[in-house]
Amino acid sequence: MRVPPEILGLIKENKKILIVSHINPEGDSAGSSIALALGLKKIGKYTCIFSRDPLPEILRFLPSSDMFSQKVPSNGFDVLFLLDCNTVKRTGLKTDCLLPVTKKIVVIDHHLPYEIEVKSSELGVWSPKYNSKLKAHNSKLITHKWIDPDASATGVLIYKLLNALCIPVDKEIATNLYTAILTDTGGFRYSNTNPESLNIASQLLKAGAEPWGIAKEVYESFSFNRLRLLSLCLNTLKRQGKLAWATITRDMYKKTKTSVQDTETFVDYTRRIKGVEVGILFRQVQNESPRRKGLYKISLRSKGRVDVAEIAGLFGGGGHHNAAGCELKGSLEEVKKKVFGVIKKAIKKL
Ligand code: 5GP
Ligand code: MN
Repeated sequence: MRVPPEILGLIKENKKILIVSHINPEGDSAGSSIALALGLKKIGKYTCIFSRDPLPEILRFLPSSDMFSQKVPSNGFDVLFLLDCNTVKRTGLKTDCLLPVTKKIVVIDHHLPYEIEVKSSELGVWSPKYNSKLKAHNSKLITHKWIDPDASATGVLIYKLLNALCIPVDKEIATNLYTAILTDTGGFRYSNTNPESLNIASQLLKAGAEPWGIAKEVYESFSFNRLRLLSLCLNTLKRQGKLAWATITRDMYKKTKTSVQDTETFVDYTRRIKGVEVGILFRQVQNESPRRKGLYKISLRSKGRVDVAEIAGLFGGGGHHNAAGCELKGSLEEVKKKVFGVIKKAIKKL
């Protein structure tokens, strides 16, 4: 997909640019945000990155990772770029915090857009009322969208954007973008890996990205406590036919002195089992403010035959065909019952 000319125009015409991405930053959201900020700086723009959540320890190796800030931005940005998500809700920030800051919001993303997510309903738990409210809210706020679900990562789109603006990709930018693409394709293994992402990865290596250096940071630098948490999590692994799941409780985080940031990729183990079509990880939220009391974060992974983005969409979440997530309130038993209900229906249809 070509870079929309109106987004190029917007960058050329404006000076102060704010970059925001989704809650719980990971390789793609962080790498894309930093690469865009560094690239735009090269053509004289003033850029800031703002995130509700801090960068996980494992991504602090990213060049210029200190740009990733949790300091609430002051007013007076011309444009806000929303990366790797397509609703304001996913940033975890209140509209009243973003709106005084800027009047234009541009989405650059590769997740299934909201309009596609909501078409699904056969499995039948979704409330259409909530749907249209969120849709109306977004269309009021978001002025431009570039959403390409065929892109392996948002990092691919940022690479194309920098190219279209004739901004040279240096080693720092290349390292950030390579990390974005590497992590979102699961190390170039997932079904979203395609000629475009491999070709861009090759260009990024030529620009200075070091594949082993980056892989070492991302995949071979787990803290000891993180592996202890994984071991507790794997202890809960269960399987029923084509479905497998595991759980992380608040207690486990406490015991191992870890946090949700340490759980990235744990869900992959549930899908790794031969014959399993859908894997699920249930994570109890760690900090229970009154609003988040009893909340579970649910990660869903599919081997390709079940569309888990559709299932997450039914619960107000989203993602991709093979990797998606949502949040649900209730006891673990209640939450499992809801999720298993729809997944088992989907598996039955196979
Ligand atoms: P993970 O399970 O690793 O947190 O996320 C898998 C994919 O689903 C990612 O692409 C992520 O952006 C998306 N995702 C995870 N949780 C949510 C959620 O609560 N809402 C939406 N819209 N997408 C989510
Ligand atoms: Mn992504």
